[in-house]
Amino acid sequence: MNSDSNTATKTAIVTGGASGLGYAIAQKFVEENIRTIIIARNEQKLQEAKGKFGNLCSYIVFDLTNLPQIPELVTGIVEEYGKIDILVNNAGINLKKPFTEVTDEDFQKIMLTNVTAVFALSREVVKTMLPHGNGAIVNISSMAAQYGIPKVIAYSASKTAIEGMTRAMAVELSPLGIRVNCIAPGFIATDMSAKALDNDPERKNKVLSRTPMGKLGTPADIAEAVYYYASEGAKYVTGTVLPVDGGNSIGF
Ligand code: NDP
Repeated sequence: MNSDSNTATKTAIVTGGASGLGYAIAQKFVEENIRTIIIARNEQKLQEAKGKFGNLCSYIVFDLTNLPQIPELVTGIVEEYGKIDILVNNAGINLKKPFTEVTDEDFQKIMLTNVTAVFALSREVVKTMLPHGNGAIVNISSMAAQYGIPKVIAYSASKTAIEGMTRAMAVELSPLGIRVNCIAPGFIATDMSAKALDNDPERKNKVLSRTPMGKLGTPADIAEAVYYYASEGAKYVTGTVLPVDGGNSIGF
């Protein structure tokens, strides 16, 4: 894999970049010669990913729910790597539980990781993008924001918020040179979807039966779309939500 950090054209942050969709996104960015900083909590996974991706990848062990430390995190990145061109807000958590069993703490925890931390990190990164008048932010939503899915109340609320935030950020920031878009992945084969589907054959059958392409997607399918949004090819695209879902969101 390309590992020449001196020839990197741009710098990107990918949250949750050591596993699942984030791993594939970081891999694509490094292949495209983008210096990529991956952020997550588990250092071993981060180290393994960095080992695969080479010198163009750096990692930072950080819990994004630690909101007060986010300004320092972003300042540190800019001091070390110069300007940030791309932010991919990919890190997220899910919780599958019947509606009445979800506690206030459960709900807050999902919202903190999936919404508040995304807002706080975006705000700090945008502050550093504004002086350059340039930047691309890609948020990650879900099918849970396209239609009703039972037993994921907090996750559905959080991903629906992400789509609203994408539009609100786009109208305010696009005139200043920062594009903001969102991808709504369908059902993609990762640890997260395995947890939700593998011991629930009824749910898995339902997913596949309403997916016209008849199969789960791969993390690389998402990475291609994220790269498009982050690239010059999308320079007139902002405020959009792109389902990458094998047709699941329009399936009967
Ligand atoms: P994974 O569980 O594989 O990855 C989630 C990543 O987020 C992990 O790398 C995890 O790293 C990181 N993360 C979670 N919480 C925190 C935190 N507090 N601070 C820092 N990092 C954190 O899931 P996926 O790859 O499947 O999901 C990625 C995104 O895609 C999520 O936003 C998810 O909602 C969304 N999505 C996934 C779909 C799918 O089918 N897989 C479908 C639709 C949306 P660590 O544990 O080391 O902190």
